[in-house]
Amino acid sequence: MALVLENHRYDADRCIRCGGCKWVDHIYMGHPRWGVKCPSIARYLFDPYAAYGRLQLALGLMDGELEITPSFVDAVFQCQLCGACDVGCKRNLDLEIQDTLMALRQRVVDKGKGPLPGHKKAAGNIESTWNIFGSRKKERFSWMPSGIQPAAKADVLYWAGCYPAYTQSETAQATVKLLKAAGVDFAVLGESEWCCGQMLFTTGQTELALKVAQHNIDAIKASGAKTVLTSCPECLTALKVEYPKLLGKSTSDMPYQVVHLTEFMEPLVKNGAIKLNKPLPMRVTYHDPCHLSRMSEPWVQWEGTRGQYGVLQPPKQWRRGTNGVYQQPRNIMGAIPGLELVEMQRTRENAFCCGAGGGVREGLNDFALWTAQERLTEAKETAGTNTLVLACPHCKANFTDAIKKSGDNMKVYDIAELMVKALSQGKEA
Ligand code: SF4
Ligand code: SF4
Repeated sequence: MALVLENHRYDADRCIRCGGCKWVDHIYMGHPRWGVKCPSIARYLFDPYAAYGRLQLALGLMDGELEITPSFVDAVFQCQLCGACDVGCKRNLDLEIQDTLMALRQRVVDKGKGPLPGHKKAAGNIESTWNIFGSRKKERFSWMPSGIQPAAKADVLYWAGCYPAYTQSETAQATVKLLKAAGVDFAVLGESEWCCGQMLFTTGQTELALKVAQHNIDAIKASGAKTVLTSCPECLTALKVEYPKLLGKSTSDMPYQVVHLTEFMEPLVKNGAIKLNKPLPMRVTYHDPCHLSRMSEPWVQWEGTRGQYGVLQPPKQWRRGTNGVYQQPRNIMGAIPGLELVEMQRTRENAFCCGAGGGVREGLNDFALWTAQERLTEAKETAGTNTLVLACPHCKANFTDAIKKSGDNMKVYDIAELMVKALSQGKEA
């Protein structure tokens, strides 16, 4: 079910231009240098490049007062759909900003003015090879370490995702080593695993998004798995949130649960099924990936009416970003002896995006790298470390490219890699 812009007129119209979608929550704001959580307004310093400005663009379009010019298209796509504005607005007004921004993109695409050339190229890759890079289908699982054999059928299905499968294979390899160390039987889909389609959802390429969603849902059902485990938060959001949303269902209606590696591993670390005993004397900071943190709450389908003062009947279960996966990765790192975690100024719901999401890495790469460099600078200047840990191969790819471009001395690790380094002697596969 594609998002319809007119269904979000209330959200666009009720904006009070308080700026809560742009600023870090004031009680958590340290220095003004790190006071803005929207990458788009941080870079362009012009209101159409903040959520409240885009709501005005949406209203102007619905009222026939604005046309979709090249500058309009630029303002709509120079945004990572990172969700920082959505959780900021829901501190005050419970407006559905993320869905409104996605519906606005959908309208631009439906009118033939988008998406951007990079988005079309990535979609072409997906359509011809079922991965976002256009790489060979047969090689999707060729990273599997020797000595690790997935089961033909298991309750747990490891969903690799395009980035771990093709460019960040160290994350996929670390993940299956951890599963083996914990004694967890797991299966994989092999060539039947297609790109999750998250880039398609966020760039309004809904027809192809629906095709990959339907294929992947059928393949997961046919596997008989009860739990789908992902290394990539973008895959997590696609499978857990976007697929049911597109089908007009709730996350709880799906016949399997979808979890991220950190959610799956944290209880195993706590109960001793996996032992992270090898000391890692490192000072690190942690980057909250948008799709693991504020964007990862389940989707709850709502249908009803809005009455006086905007009151909803029946009441809606909101996704306000507070119940995302924040603590699990921190608990895992806390269990590694010698590892010191120092927080950056913008953390959890207020974290600054890595820059890759919302099709920005594919369509506007210069902005993606600028955003990543801002975050790397924040890590050095506010946490005082040159080691960044994250739990997202998509973020890692973008940070790695930014480091290559700037020549920065930062090191970036996926949390799965750190966990493998900290495994008790003899446990690593
Ligand atoms: S936080 Fe919400 S109400 Fe405030 S300016 Fe942003 S979109 Fe408008
Ligand atoms: S989704 Fe992120 S980049 Fe886009 S307007 Fe909201 S805060 Fe800014």
